[in-house]
Amino acid sequence: MPTGTLLAVPITAASPPLLEQARSAKAAGADLLELRADLIEDLPALEQFLAQPRELPVILTLRSVDEGGKCCASDAERAALFQRLAALAPDYVDIEFAAWRRSPELQAAVRPRRAGPPETRDAPPPRLILSQHDLHGTPAALGQALEPLLASPADVVKAVFAAHGALDACRVLAQLQKWSQARKLIMLATEPAGLITRVLARKFNAFAIFAALDSARQTAPGQPTLRELVEVYRWNQIGPSTTVLGVVGWPVSHSRSPAIHTAAMRTARIDGVYAPLPVAPTYAAFAAFMDHITQNPHLDVTGLSVTIPHKEHAARWLTEHAFPLSDVAQRVGAVNTLTRTGPANWSGDNTDCAGFLAALALVPESGRERTAAILGAGGAARAAVCALLLRGYNVTVFNRTEARAAALANELGCSAQPWAKRLHTPVEVIVNCTAIGMAPAENESPLPAAALRSKPPATVIDAVYNPAETRLLREARQHGCHIVSGTEVFLAQAAAQFEAWHKTAAPLDVMRQIMSGKTVPA
Ligand code: NAP
Repeated sequence: MPTGTLLAVPITAASPPLLEQARSAKAAGADLLELRADLIEDLPALEQFLAQPRELPVILTLRSVDEGGKCCASDAERAALFQRLAALAPDYVDIEFAAWRRSPELQAAVRPRRAGPPETRDAPPPRLILSQHDLHGTPAALGQALEPLLASPADVVKAVFAAHGALDACRVLAQLQKWSQARKLIMLATEPAGLITRVLARKFNAFAIFAALDSARQTAPGQPTLRELVEVYRWNQIGPSTTVLGVVGWPVSHSRSPAIHTAAMRTARIDGVYAPLPVAPTYAAFAAFMDHITQNPHLDVTGLSVTIPHKEHAARWLTEHAFPLSDVAQRVGAVNTLTRTGPANWSGDNTDCAGFLAALALVPESGRERTAAILGAGGAARAAVCALLLRGYNVTVFNRTEARAAALANELGCSAQPWAKRLHTPVEVIVNCTAIGMAPAENESPLPAAALRSKPPATVIDAVYNPAETRLLREARQHGCHIVSGTEVFLAQAAAQFEAWHKTAAPLDVMRQIMSGKTVPA
């Protein structure tokens, strides 16, 4: 049996044949199979599989409806079935703790090995996993909710909670870290917010964690595939000293940052993982998350990207805790990079400005007066204005909500004009800092094509990076403009974050390859 946290793959159907699925799971890196008998519903196939020699150890699970499965049988019926299948010696049997506690039949059918008499039979009886599933949330008094299960005689204890945000997931990890030396533990959170509990199971010495063979065979919301865990999150490299980084936002599940930063860390041989950390869109939720990870330094969170809608929240949280903000972050009024500078200390920076500076470095020298039009007046616009002012541009901000443009211009020292005027103002550089044109609304553009017909043609920079070539950029190119994609801005700000956290040069080529959807060999 391999050492360390076992990667378990649930098998949920009898087709393709169980043996074939078991072989695929082993080839993909699984250490353990979970036969979900409640979903497979094919007793002869299960018996045939269990009777054969096995390449991987097996957990037999017959999950009840009340705890997320499909088994409607009574406790006595389940006990009879467990007894019948236990004779074929699965390595583990998983029974809900609540059912096992109330049912003498289930207790008689599967006993914990650690509490039983010495073995007398050739084939040892299965080990008992007692499990508890909260399908609705993660209780506030989590430690208390776990006490009876942790005091049970199970060989392995399994507790599953639904995470409504990264804070829930971190609270589950804190319990795993607390108890995993004393008990064999499977402890995780479901839902996309729970992903980090699976990725970090190995860091905190969980007994096992579950990953699907492919996305069509998930058994819980937010369950990653084996491939994702191994290839994107570098499962086999994770250990007790792995540091934790991530992107805090709402939503963040489609962010490219985990793939980009993880690949960059792998290239630079940095022992870290980077994961999506969804935090609900209020200051209170952001502050509660930051307070928790600050008060729990063993979670080893060392660096965070901050995205919509938390950039201003991050600046406020740092200020309230008297932690330093870089000059640029103060000027922009928003923080997109948090770096841990001590056990309970953080600093904040804004690398979006560095991203726009990198984009401006790609503007061809025209010899003209340096004039720029900014479309939008949100967080990206503030960073773009700072970069343009640093490079000596004369900047005009055009925004749908005029008062917001005026406030920004007043604060940062440039001018503002009504949104409608953006159509008639020839400038050297146009920067789109609205979200117009972003997928799924790829067919929209913040400027009609006619407004791009200036002589000489302008340089058009789009902050939107999904898609890499927006409608605005396509039409600008067709009108002879020089174009700079939002991916350049994104990559440069990500590289600046990498350098702030890891104090070493970012492998920009690798980051660019991942950004363009290519895979980089492990
Ligand atoms: P934000 O703070 O929410 O600001 C959004 C801006 O878009 C506001 O000025 C808003 O105008 C304007 N807007 C939205 N819908 C509009 C519409 N239908 N018509 C006219 N104006 C509209 O967002 P942000 O953080 O600045 O981000 C803006 C975009 O930049 C996003 O697509 C984001 O992904 C991208 N971004 C890219 C990078 C990068 O690295 N490439 C970095 C940061 C941001 P009102 O004020 O009138 O609402």
